[in-house]
Amino acid sequence: MVNVEELLKDTGALLKGHFLLSSGLHSDTYIQCAKLLQKTRYAKGIGNDLALKLQRFDPDCVVSPAIGGIVIGYEVARSLNISFMFAERDSNDVMTFRRGFDPANFKRVVIVEDVVTTGKSTQEVIEALKRRNSHAVATSSIISRTEMNEINGLPFLSLITLPLKSYTPEECPLCKNGVPLSKPGTRKIFN
Ligand SMILES: [Zn+2]
Repeated sequence: MVNVEELLKDTGALLKGHFLLSSGLHSDTYIQCAKLLQKTRYAKGIGNDLALKLQRFDPDCVVSPAIGGIVIGYEVARSLNISFMFAERDSNDVMTFRRGFDPANFKRVVIVEDVVTTGKSTQEVIEALKRRNSHAVATSSIISRTEMNEINGLPFLSLITLPLKSYTPEECPLCKNGVPLSKPGTRKIFN
């Protein structure tokens, strides 16, 4: 098993500052998983470990929300020797399948993300799969920033849990101190 915390430190993927999370909340730390997964050797090892945890669900496909989930989702699917596809937001911000992906062919989907904070993207992928006559059996991420162990009634598992301290903009101490806000991640994909 790889030590994800060591790898985060090694790659400088754990950022300190004042960040706007995709949930709209503010935080003093941000995990930039793209920096961790930039090391293909690490991505492969992490993908293998997550695949080991997910194989008991007998999945037939991995689905990840774009963009953050794509690299790790692909690595997990490759390790499990099953298909991979990703969901993305359309111009109305609705999670959907494009690019010819047809999830209806799969009934035992596992959802793989890089980091789960609120589980919102995962919930939206679960709903997007239902709309396309497919079905998720489990959800997962490399890193969990919550204590949840299920999302929408499905098992949720991760390799490590790093609980997040986050604030609404109104109560954020960093905003009060005038620390500039940065937005390191985005849910949008370029068309
Ligand atoms: Zn703030």
